[in-house]
Amino acid sequence: MTTYTGASLAATPPLADSIGDLRVANAYAGLPREFHTFLRPQPLTDPRLLHANAEVGALLGLSEKALREPDFLRVVSGQEPLPGGRTLAAVYSGHQFGVWAGQLGDGRAHLLGEVVTPRGSLELQLKGSGRTPYSRMGDGRAVLRSSVREYLASEAMAGLGIPTTRALALVVSDDPVYRETMETAAIVTRVSPSFIRFGSFEHWMGNPEHLRALTDHVIEHHFPELHDTAGGEPDTWENTVLRMLREVVRRTAALIADWQTAGFCHGVMNTDNMSILGLTMDYGPYGFMDRFQANHICNHSDTHGRYAWNVQPAVAHWNLYRLGGVFLGVGLTEEALRAALSGYERDFLGAYQARLCRKFGLRAWEETDEELVDNWWRLLHGQRADFTLAFRHLAAAMRDPAPFLDLFTDHGPAKDWLGRYRRRLEAQAVPDAEREAAMLAVNPLYVLRNHLAQGAIDAALRGDAGEIDVLLELLRDPCTERPGRERYAQQAPEWAERLEVSCSS
Ligand code: AMP
Ligand code: MG
Repeated sequence: MTTYTGASLAATPPLADSIGDLRVANAYAGLPREFHTFLRPQPLTDPRLLHANAEVGALLGLSEKALREPDFLRVVSGQEPLPGGRTLAAVYSGHQFGVWAGQLGDGRAHLLGEVVTPRGSLELQLKGSGRTPYSRMGDGRAVLRSSVREYLASEAMAGLGIPTTRALALVVSDDPVYRETMETAAIVTRVSPSFIRFGSFEHWMGNPEHLRALTDHVIEHHFPELHDTAGGEPDTWENTVLRMLREVVRRTAALIADWQTAGFCHGVMNTDNMSILGLTMDYGPYGFMDRFQANHICNHSDTHGRYAWNVQPAVAHWNLYRLGGVFLGVGLTEEALRAALSGYERDFLGAYQARLCRKFGLRAWEETDEELVDNWWRLLHGQRADFTLAFRHLAAAMRDPAPFLDLFTDHGPAKDWLGRYRRRLEAQAVPDAEREAAMLAVNPLYVLRNHLAQGAIDAALRGDAGEIDVLLELLRDPCTERPGRERYAQQAPEWAERLEVSCSS
């Protein structure tokens, strides 16, 4: 719980009762015209607001009343522009599954403008809002199934403290959308300081003028601290770019460390889905692992496992190289770029080990912990033990090992590992109760399992958002046990293994 002091309450402006009362800016729209196309969304027939997210509404300065007003629905369903905003679709390019894909862009998304808040600007973007000049063969739509999944996932990540774009509203319609079968259309309103991707930079490879315009925009609006140099002399543009890249490397490394230690697989780590701000973005065939498998592939379309869980850290580094390479043609040397990008491994390991220390209740990382952790993954992998519950039940395993051991079919190896872990704990003078409480505060009990998301989708298809409410309530505070919600804390049922999620969304 956040406790507000009188001072911060006084500094917080009152929430607006209408979306029309927000202060709106359009910095992205001010980029040269080649960066975007101004256009209107294609509204859905008879759109209904299935869910509005009061928490994100408050971030934008909107009251709960504002979310129930007809003018809110008209904006988040694409019927009317955000008052003061300039609606556009942005262009970008990217590498998909390791191959240069050329021009992509917002093929089914519309940027509405930026809401100016006391803590910085937040862009509003509709996804599933119709065709744009960047739609290629696509229909510009998103189905309800994938929209519910994106809505839930972004809020689940926020609940875990993992950087992510957010979700404000979910609008549904009976308009048919054909994927593998006939489904219905939906629009999610996403919220983020920026939706700029590695691929936005790749798009301007070989165009120094526009690359510079984009870079300056990103530094001015999202990394203003990079302008400050200790000596007072303004730094060269090249050095500022290198510092930006270092920051993107740090953020990306920290993000992937978050993913790995949450058992999260993104599923489509193409460079056009990598946020320049180090946020998780573009939720598609993602998955939080149920039973641990190191080479788990969550995306049914990823036949070769390019984006399997255990390769995500290396893929992120590869993607960073694609981003860095863009700057080769504009005065930055290969040597300097390599130096900026080579920090990734150290950044990732540092962030990963720090998170593992917290999850295992270790005061500080020691060299021998590498073996302990390696054996942990082997143990879980060998018996396909549940990722989330294994960490959760480890907290109390020193005084009550049964719930932990019950996650394994063969208790022998699990007991062996516990023995080594006990010796490791004995070497640090942390009282058990203190360690246990600290572990329970960082290892979630509730996680957005595919079958739970499916339950919310099935209810949403009947027009019932109740299951979304239940999941959001649990996932916003996933480490706190709620009596009566045992079903949501259990291992996945067997049928969940047959749930297939693919790129089709
Ligand atoms: P994604 O795999 O969802 O990140 O999308 C990759 C590219 O395909 C992006 O340029 C999307 O805008 C575009 N895209 C995906 N689905 C559709 C669709 N149904 N209609 C138009 N464009 C789409
Ligand atoms: Mg994408």
